[in-house]
Amino acid sequence: MARYRDSVCKLCRREGEKLFLKGNRCLSTKCSFERKSYVPGQHGQTRRRRISNYGLQLREKQKIKRLYGVLEKQFRNYFKNADKMKGETGTNLMQFLERRLDNVVFRLGFAPSHAAARQLVTHRHFLVNGRIVNIPSFLVTPGDVIQVRDGSLKMEIFSDSIRRIKGDLNLPWLEIEKAKMKGTFIAVPERDQMNIEVNERLVVELYSK
Ligand code: SF4
Repeated sequence: MARYRDSVCKLCRREGEKLFLKGNRCLSTKCSFERKSYVPGQHGQTRRRRISNYGLQLREKQKIKRLYGVLEKQFRNYFKNADKMKGETGTNLMQFLERRLDNVVFRLGFAPSHAAARQLVTHRHFLVNGRIVNIPSFLVTPGDVIQVRDGSLKMEIFSDSIRRIKGDLNLPWLEIEKAKMKGTFIAVPERDQMNIEVNERLVVELYSK
């Protein structure tokens, strides 16, 4: 399974904003972006270029991919499927990304970052409707129950999650039973329920060229 292996902090610097890809570290003084908020590379500190329309579209696509930890091929497949569906392509695309099991695990607060969620899923720590699912891109459907396996509950990462999770997720499409480390995907979220500031229309424009 292909995945990004370089420093994720470089991705924040490339996008010019904090993408919160490293969990707790992102909130600490160790965050690289706080110390080096310029573009990575030899000329990162001096490079000042006007960004074209195409550049804006490309950057937004890269940002969305990086936020969800998805590589190009898979992202393009989501777009193709989103484009075939009824409704707004951009919203359909975002709904595919939100329905990924690793994203739902992260949104429920069971993992501190998308990358951690992905690894925990791959390492078979989650059940979906009572069965182990180890595919991060598995698409969750309304009514699905996602739960940490009993044998995994004693792991430090989940004890940390229990401490970190606040009562209310502020995401009406997810329900959580914190004591059981169990969550229910109630419905596919509407775009304005996703709490994510990206402009997916730029991606639609980019891929529609
Ligand atoms: Fe981005 Fe987090 Fe790294 Fe800061 S610590 S640069 S927010 S991934």
